[in-house]
Amino acid sequence: MAISTSVISLNTISYSRSSSHSYLSPPKPYVPSCTLPNSNSLRKLLITTSSSSEMGPTSDTLNFSRQPEMPSVSPFGLSMNELGKPSYKWRRVLLKVSGEALAGDQSQTIDPKITMAIAREVASVTRLGIEVALVVGGGNIFRGSSWAGSGGLDRSSADYIGMLATVMNAIFLQATMESIGIPTRVQTAFRMSEVAEPYIRRRAVRHLEKGRVVIFAAGTGNPFFTTDTAAALRCAEINAEVVLKATNVDGVYDDDPRSNPHARLLHTLTYQDVTSRDLSVMDMTAITLCQENNIPVVVFNINKAGNISKAIKGERVGTLIGADMEVHHSKNMKQT
Ligand code: UDP
Repeated sequence: MAISTSVISLNTISYSRSSSHSYLSPPKPYVPSCTLPNSNSLRKLLITTSSSSEMGPTSDTLNFSRQPEMPSVSPFGLSMNELGKPSYKWRRVLLKVSGEALAGDQSQTIDPKITMAIAREVASVTRLGIEVALVVGGGNIFRGSSWAGSGGLDRSSADYIGMLATVMNAIFLQATMESIGIPTRVQTAFRMSEVAEPYIRRRAVRHLEKGRVVIFAAGTGNPFFTTDTAAALRCAEINAEVVLKATNVDGVYDDDPRSNPHARLLHTLTYQDVTSRDLSVMDMTAITLCQENNIPVVVFNINKAGNISKAIKGERVGTLIGADMEVHHSKNMKQT
C-alpha cells in the first residue's frame, strides 16, 4: 500500500486527517518535476442551437477542446501571454467538493462559513476569466452504501437518497454564491425542474462561457456510482482541463500519517500509482475515467484559506496526479 518514499520528490509536512486539526505546508518554493499532458489543440465548432430564452443567442460557438488558447506553462503557476497579461494554467476547471468538506468541523451538516469561503474564492477566479464548474457530494447528509439494508432500504433507493442529498448541498452552495453576486446555475442529473435545470451538456458549456458557475448535482444520476465519478464524467463531457478535488487533507501521502509520523505528502503521482497501490484518492471508476481521458487531478485541502483559488489558478497545491508524471517517476525508480 505504501509508496517507496525514494521514488518521488517529497516534502515533509505535518498532517492531520480530521478537518478540526490544523495543517502546515512546507514554505519551500516548488520546482515542478513533470510536464502535464497538453491535450488537444484548440478546435472550435460553430454550432447552431435552438436555445431557450435563458440561453441567449441561437448561434453559439462551443469550445470542444480541453485546452483552449493557452501558452505552455509549468504544471503549477502562471505565465504571461503575448499581451503581458497573466495566463493561468487552466481555463476551465471542474471543482469537486465533497459533502464532508462542506460540513467543516462536522458540528453541523453544512457550515455556511465553508460555503462562503468557497464562494469567495470561486468569485476571485471567475473574475480572472477562469470558467468554474462544480460537482458537489452529499456524504455530509447521506451515503447510500452506509444506509443500504437498514429498514428495508435497498442499495439503489439508498443511493437515490444520497443523490438527493447532493442536490441539497448544491442549492445551498448556489444560494451562497449568488448572495455575493456570482451568477450560478444548478443542473441535476435527473429532473427536478422546480428547483434546478436538468443536466444539458451544451447548456452547461454555454453557461460557463458566459461566466456563470455551474454546479452539477445528483451525481451521475445512477445508483452504485459516486460524485467523484460524476466529477470525472462531467469534466470529460464539458472539456474541463482538470479535476480539482477539494478534501479535508493536504493531499496524498506515502503512508498513513495517523500511524506513521514520517508519512510524507506526495506532490506528484501517476494514475498507475493510484490504481496499482489502491491509494484512497478517488474510487477506481473515477480515476480510471480520468486516466482514459487524460484528465489531471489535483487533490488539495479546502480548509486552508486561498487553496481553492490557488488550485483553480494552477498554482502549486496538494498532490497532482497525471500521466506524464510516469516518466519522471520511473526515472527516479531506476536511480533507487
Ligand atoms: N450517489 C450515487 N450515484 C452517483 C453519485 C452519488 O448513487 O453518481 C449517491 C451515493 O449513495 C453516495 C451519495 O450519493 O453515497 C453521496 O455521494 P458521495 O458519497 O460521492 O459524496 P461525497 O463523498 O463526495 O460527499
